[in-house]
Amino acid sequence: MLDLLEECKDAGRIGISGHIRPDGDCVGACLGLWQYLKKSLPQAYVRVFLEKPADIFAEIKGFDEICSEFPEEKPFDVFFVVDCGADRLGMGEKYYKAAGKTINIDHHISNSGSGDINYIKPQVGSSSELVFDLMEEDRLDAEIAKAVYIGIIHDTGVFQYSNTSPATMEKGAKLIGYGFDFPRLIQETFYQKTYLQAQVMGRALMESIRFMDGRCIVSALDRKVMDFYNVEPKDLDGIVNQLRNIKGVECAVFMYQSDLLEYKVSLRSSEKVNVAQVAAYFGGGGHARAAGCTMKGTFHDCINNLSLHIERELDKT
Ligand code: 5GP
Ligand code: MN
Repeated sequence: MLDLLEECKDAGRIGISGHIRPDGDCVGACLGLWQYLKKSLPQAYVRVFLEKPADIFAEIKGFDEICSEFPEEKPFDVFFVVDCGADRLGMGEKYYKAAGKTINIDHHISNSGSGDINYIKPQVGSSSELVFDLMEEDRLDAEIAKAVYIGIIHDTGVFQYSNTSPATMEKGAKLIGYGFDFPRLIQETFYQKTYLQAQVMGRALMESIRFMDGRCIVSALDRKVMDFYNVEPKDLDGIVNQLRNIKGVECAVFMYQSDLLEYKVSLRSSEKVNVAQVAAYFGGGGHARAAGCTMKGTFHDCINNLSLHIERELDKT
């Protein structure tokens, strides 16, 4: 077991970063770890570097102290890579490269480990759950628990997806025992949408196309539509899950235009198709039931290429 405080005991400068376009698990795990290290090692300088997360996470303690400008920094003695490998750190990679010691905490099967120390458990549902495992429980408080809890609910779909284990539920029980308003947190960070987010979701659902006898569904939003609704990529969370909820769908594909002739693709499967395999083929990664990649070309190029590989995975079932 990795001993966090032992590894950091001589560190004056500690950095923490996660993947580009940080999601709830990434934000919760980084800020939970940040709070824990700051509280346990009060003499150390501890900093989190992430692309600006969605505002729904603003109530996690430390949100306002996330550094999204990625300035020049003196090398960190210890640098944590959380919820990804070094290849998905984006602008944070320079700190990783310069750091004295790197520690990689992740639950992605596609991550072979990029730290001097690696704590990578693909069988565990979220990086936040891993961070919780590494904490001494008597050092936790309600704010740390809240950060970790938000991370867990986001990656497990509020304890619904198959990455939820009995141990996940036990940890959830312990965490709510610290006392925070979890029904409100679940509602406001997971289910609630702004009116524009709901409208754009409605549009994506309305324009979706089924294929392979309704076993697959795809929807895409191009830049023009996103501009019309004034939405950013982080406003599109949840659309792919909604597509996957449709009866008969075994594989859902949602993509948005990320550049001229480039799409960011999200893949979800209900129980059979291994979408991590599909994403990996196109240079992406993720989990068997939730994965993603970035593809070049028009929407039609992307879906034509994807459908071949989805079909191959479906045929295996
Ligand atoms: P989402 O569809 O929500 O963006 O991502 C689903 C899962 O796939 C997450 O675990 C995410 O980290 C992973 N993922 C999404 N896009 C990529 C990608 O381009 N590369 C890799 N390695 N993983 C990705
Ligand atoms: Mn995660």
